[in-house]
Amino acid sequence: MNRKQKIMLMRIIISALLMIVLSFADVAGAIRFILYMIPYLIVGYDILLKAAKGIIRGHVFDECFLMAIATVGAVALAIYSRSGDYTEAVAVMLFYQIGELFQNYAVGKSRRNITQLMDIRPDYANIEHDGKLEKTDPDDVAVGSIIVVQPGEKVPIDGIVVQGSSSLDTSALTGESVPRNIKEGDEIISGSVNMTGVLRIRTEKEFGDSTVSKILDLVENASSRKSRSENFISRFARVYTPAVCIAALVLALLPPAASLIIGNPARWDVWIYRALTFLVISCPCALVISIPLSFFAGIGGASNAGILVKGSNYLEALSKTKVVVFDKTGTLTKGVFEVNAIHHGTIDDAKIIEYAAIAECASSHPIAKSLQRAYGKDIDRGRAENIREISGGGIIASVDGHSIACGNEKLMRDIGIEPIPCHSAGTIIHIAIDGEYSGHIVISDELKPNSAKAVRALKSAGVDKTVMLTGDVHTVAESVASQLGIDVVYSELLPADKVDKVEELLSAKQPDAMLAFVGDGINDAPVLGRADIGIAMGAMGSDAAIEAADVVLMDDDPLKVMKAIRISRKCMRIVHQNIVFAIGIKLICLVLGALGFADMWLAIFADVGVMIIAVLNAIRALFVKKL
Ligand code: ADP
Ligand code: MG
Repeated sequence: MNRKQKIMLMRIIISALLMIVLSFADVAGAIRFILYMIPYLIVGYDILLKAAKGIIRGHVFDECFLMAIATVGAVALAIYSRSGDYTEAVAVMLFYQIGELFQNYAVGKSRRNITQLMDIRPDYANIEHDGKLEKTDPDDVAVGSIIVVQPGEKVPIDGIVVQGSSSLDTSALTGESVPRNIKEGDEIISGSVNMTGVLRIRTEKEFGDSTVSKILDLVENASSRKSRSENFISRFARVYTPAVCIAALVLALLPPAASLIIGNPARWDVWIYRALTFLVISCPCALVISIPLSFFAGIGGASNAGILVKGSNYLEALSKTKVVVFDKTGTLTKGVFEVNAIHHGTIDDAKIIEYAAIAECASSHPIAKSLQRAYGKDIDRGRAENIREISGGGIIASVDGHSIACGNEKLMRDIGIEPIPCHSAGTIIHIAIDGEYSGHIVISDELKPNSAKAVRALKSAGVDKTVMLTGDVHTVAESVASQLGIDVVYSELLPADKVDKVEELLSAKQPDAMLAFVGDGINDAPVLGRADIGIAMGAMGSDAAIEAADVVLMDDDPLKVMKAIRISRKCMRIVHQNIVFAIGIKLICLVLGALGFADMWLAIFADVGVMIIAVLNAIRALFVKKL
């Protein structure tokens, strides 16, 4: 509990104790009134002030207004009828505040659970100075500095390990508890915790551009994107509260006036009391609070599982996913290519790999990374100039003064070179040196261990259609798709063709069925943006993916798509339960109140009770079952 909540709790306790004492005191008249006003004001002064401010600014019809009118009205009735029964007004205020406190606490709690992720926020970076470590604000660390991360410390900034090896706990980022081993030369991502060895890291980014900052921004802004259900609730509240106030007014005036007309006594006090009860019952707090809280908890639960959802609207959309479109390389396959063979080389094989690796030195494409790995030596970036990456094609660059083209058949034809076709299974990287065809490298990729399971799981969870898009050649695409059980495959697509395909699929489906595109963010950012839900996987490190995607899976596991859908469905179930439950109970109480069967006590109990149950239900969305 924070300070504000503690103060509120004190006010509630003091006021409740005073109430109990007063119930034994035998006083009457003005003194009784004054004595009862003490606990009333202690617990409710802020509500009265807020209501007054609201009226002055013209924002009537909020919860404070309802509570103020109801309790002031009850006090006035007690004076008018000379009953001296002020207990009810105090109690209504008291329970209302208990409900508010509880809700405040619950919201804070789920916010904290989301911000458990904030645990990944590093407080300092160690910089070595004359053999001593100095704690520095991560914001002040320049790119290219050497930082030291000791066992037990968080990695503050993205970089490359220059010395040491260790295992990393990435569970705060990915939700996976298996430690990841890391050694010299590996990329390291901020937000993970160093467990065993001392690491020296050369920073590659500023703190503000590091993974950890990106994730924190994303999570902090998630709740600002509202879902349709949330918008519905706020629109509902705008119409509902004034309507209820008018209904209360009618209830207070019409029956007494009618009985006056037919010559009976008016019984103003009875009807005004019923109208006030009606107002208390009608307070829409359970709904107004529990719906956003459910989404909030859902987003929090997802992020604990390593799934970042950028807004409630995407959580809602995810629950209706009917078509899942996958990118191939890096998404369903590991994106780690092994070199199988080199054919028709006009120069030494090693030289071909060397030219290819150096030409690819600036690319983050999995093929580029794999060729660099196959080369195995340090890459002197100075040897490559005029590098151009052709998305879905390959690379054109000049290396050591030779112009090198390295990519697929399409790229070769585009530069006017006829490639020699290859009959081996695998992805073929053709090489041309100084405008002469110089051979091709046959590389192949492996499926991720969970890909087949992920496709099957989606099917059994009611996804109608799975699709794979790839820039790779037809043969490779077909073989991957048939191994995984993918329904439809489109191959040899340029990034722009992928957008067209997704648009085609979008227009072919039912309007309320959602299409999710799952990609790795490397050259498929436009598609991520175009789909109903863009899911980037393995996005740690790929900035473009984090920007373009709506949902970010923190590790490479395609099975997480299923998990994201499950989480979203659970969250939506909870949202719907809460809407039905809260509105249902409200309607019943409203009818009972109007008929005179419910008094203000019941009203406030119903209100606070419904709210507490709805909030507890909402919190359930935080908890995610293991798959
Ligand atoms: P995917 O759709 O499978 O993710 P991409 O669209 O990234 O594939 O690439 C499609 C094809 O373009 C690759 O199979 C490869 O032939 C070629 N290609 C793309 N980028 C490169 C690169 N950097 N080096 C060599 N070839 C590339
Ligand atoms: Mg790709």
